[in-house]
Amino acid sequence: MACLSFLRRNVGLGLQRGMVSSGVTALKAKFSSEAGIKLEASSFNSGLAFEFSEELQQLREMARRFCREEIMPVAAHHDKTGEYPWDIIKKAHALGLINGHIPEEYGGPGLGVLDGCVVTEELAYGCTGIQVAIEANSLAEMPVILAGNKEQKKKYLGRMMEDHLMAAYCVTEPGAGSDVAGIKTRAEKKGDEYVINGQKMWITNGGVANWYFLLARTDPDASAGKGFTGFIVDRDSPGVTVGRKEWNMGQRASDTRGITFEDVVVPKENVLGSEGIGFKIAMGAFDKTRPPVAASAVGLAQRALEEALTYSLERKTMGKYIAQHQAVNFMLADMAIGIETARLATQRAAWEVDQGRRNTYFASIAKCLAGDVANKCATDAVQIFGGNGFNSEYPVEKLMRDAKIFQIYEGTAQIQRMIIGRELVEKAKMTTM
Ligand SMILES: Cc1cc2nc3c(=O)[nH]c(=O)nc-3n(C[C@H](O)[C@H](O)[C@H](O)COP(=O)(O)OP(=O)(O)OC[C@H]3O[C@@H](n4cnc5c(N)ncnc54)[C@H](O)[C@@H]3O)c2cc1C
Repeated sequence: MACLSFLRRNVGLGLQRGMVSSGVTALKAKFSSEAGIKLEASSFNSGLAFEFSEELQQLREMARRFCREEIMPVAAHHDKTGEYPWDIIKKAHALGLINGHIPEEYGGPGLGVLDGCVVTEELAYGCTGIQVAIEANSLAEMPVILAGNKEQKKKYLGRMMEDHLMAAYCVTEPGAGSDVAGIKTRAEKKGDEYVINGQKMWITNGGVANWYFLLARTDPDASAGKGFTGFIVDRDSPGVTVGRKEWNMGQRASDTRGITFEDVVVPKENVLGSEGIGFKIAMGAFDKTRPPVAASAVGLAQRALEEALTYSLERKTMGKYIAQHQAVNFMLADMAIGIETARLATQRAAWEVDQGRRNTYFASIAKCLAGDVANKCATDAVQIFGGNGFNSEYPVEKLMRDAKIFQIYEGTAQIQRMIIGRELVEKAKMTTM
């Protein structure tokens, strides 16, 4: 980093190339004398490693095998029927491929975000609907991991490890998705309890969850930063009504529902953190959950590329495999470019937060890029399959339907760009003021 800013300063001053390289030479000499060794040219690269550790390679291998043996054979069935993949979830539970972020002290595997992304990409390759059904627990658990006290973590995270329990994140409402500050669900304090009234929409795992993370307004007059509170709500609380399973364009194995809360009484022990900080908790969770969503999109894009490549080396037109027509070949190349860059952006976003650093900017870049790449790859895969691509007997139309949601949930493509733009402006203001 010191090296990079040193170079930038010199370039900014309009120095010639030779002078910059003499600056690098000087820098190497400085480090050499400090370290008491002679630095080779490659020494500047030694801080960056692109290879997974042996443990991470093994984790990826386990997830890959699980995908090939358990998910891929039944993906089409779940897509056609919308049946919830309970069998797979139970097997994933047994292997520790679900609830990966639950800390070890509460019985979980205690995986980092990067570890989770590696698993997610592998599972998503097989079916993003099934993978999302598995991953949605993490979105609900993250606010508890970030802001819960010991008792809440023991009770709500601990039991996720003991049984095949599911959880859901309830923020969106029929009238407010992107505009989180516009949500209307109210929680009124009455003695030691809160009474919750409102309606949530598009809740993943809504019909199978045993408890919900719920965001509600506790102060109708305060700003978003102070007016909302995060709660843990038990599914079996009187007044909770779960709606019908929504029949969505894609990711049909995942269970999406509306949920109504009518005079639902929640004890004050179920407030996360303290009253008024719910917005921060709900949004803060995204820094850790957007990288896995991006990883899922990368997994789908990788599948689209592999299906398209295989097909293009079987199908012949005008005496050639279609992969040998430049127009098709370039589509494959563009898919690869998108996948490689989206994967790197995803790993960067995950790595940053695993280092304990604020990664909002990187998480939005990863989520936005990977969502767009997944859609482009799936659409191009359909194109490469020609008429067959449009037919449900072939695998790529499902990928195209499944891909669209990556530009919508966990913050739309437009909202990600707003966040990235805001981060850029704020950083620029800080350095210029
Ligand atoms: C399958 C599925 C699963 C989901 N799972 C969950 C879940 O588990 N929990 C949960 O809480 N929510 C969930 N959601 C909700 C999801 O996060 C929202 O749908 C999403 O945030 C968009 O909100 P919206 O649908 O209200 O669209 P709107 O906010 O109404 O947006 C409509 C369009 O306007 C654009 N737009 C909005 N505001 C702006 C702006 N300021 N500038 C530029 N463009 C803008 C959007 O990008 C979008 O294109 C899920 C949704 C789906 C479909």
